[in-house]
Amino acid sequence: MKRIFRFQILILLAFIICGIKFDTKAASAALFPTADLSPVYDHDYYINRYPDLYAVYSADPAGAYDHFLKCGMAEGRQASPSFNVYAYMNRYPDLREAFKDDLKAYYYHYVSFGISEGRSASGDEAAPSQTPSDEGADTPKGPLSGMTVILDAGHGGRDPGCIRNGVYEKNVNLSIVMKTGAMLESFGAEVLFTRPGDSFVSLEYRYAFENLHPNAVFVSIHCNALPGNASHSGMNAYCFAPGNEKSSLFAACVYSGALYTTGATAKGLKTDSDYKVVLYSTIPSVLLETGYMSSPKEFRLLTSSGYQDLIAAGITTGLINYRLCTSDSTVSAEESGR
Ligand SMILES: [Zn+2]
Repeated sequence: MKRIFRFQILILLAFIICGIKFDTKAASAALFPTADLSPVYDHDYYINRYPDLYAVYSADPAGAYDHFLKCGMAEGRQASPSFNVYAYMNRYPDLREAFKDDLKAYYYHYVSFGISEGRSASGDEAAPSQTPSDEGADTPKGPLSGMTVILDAGHGGRDPGCIRNGVYEKNVNLSIVMKTGAMLESFGAEVLFTRPGDSFVSLEYRYAFENLHPNAVFVSIHCNALPGNASHSGMNAYCFAPGNEKSSLFAACVYSGALYTTGATAKGLKTDSDYKVVLYSTIPSVLLETGYMSSPKEFRLLTSSGYQDLIAAGITTGLINYRLCTSDSTVSAEESGR
């Protein structure tokens, strides 16, 4: 049973990977499980608007789509009259906070949510001019610089998650995620959020968002509950290692970091979880159940700012450890004095 299931997943992953490379229709199906791309991407519009692209891509729709995602959007080019990525970015501060300068995330958000939320992406904003700056040279780099971390606050909007004493799990998750994001940024990481506030986000959106960022890592935050059992407590972690080897190391690093700083009881790391955000992920990913809201003691901890800070610190520690474990940079030994 299990082997067949894994086989299906491999086929699905192969389909997704091949789809992204070779077929815009399959790519859109993989990246946008339910979305109609026509409001943002129209091949004929794109190549007819730009003569240089027409010359190269008029008979290559997959290449044109690839160009749009990899360069066109960043250059301020439009592939439909209604979507200008910089107009969308500049118009909505909540999206800017979540997606920073990650243009694909705006594109994806507009298709999946923006249109139905009544947001507008029309405009003719040009790409910001690239003024060469020498800031980078002097800016100190943190131990996580160059790492992109996607933080996922479980539930949201009409899905509250567990509820105890009038406290919604979705809000606890978001609070932990925002603290974690701030801490990771202070260590130099680039942080993206699957939901910037209290909005409903589907599981399909969450794992598609992960797979849009092949160089990122992913941490999902939840709280557990075992109704009727007030004494059950502790922290669980979940990943899906088969076919995604880095995930078990990644999950172990994040989990042990969080256990270390919080002193929570370790309930175990499950490496063949079927939670969709880890099961369908192609990047190192972990889901942390940070504690039990059904335990009065852990409820107090999880809802306290200080304990949330400890969780954030633990995740940060775990990510630094992961980076140290996976860095292939050979630390150059001091050779002087030999
Ligand atoms: Zn949950």
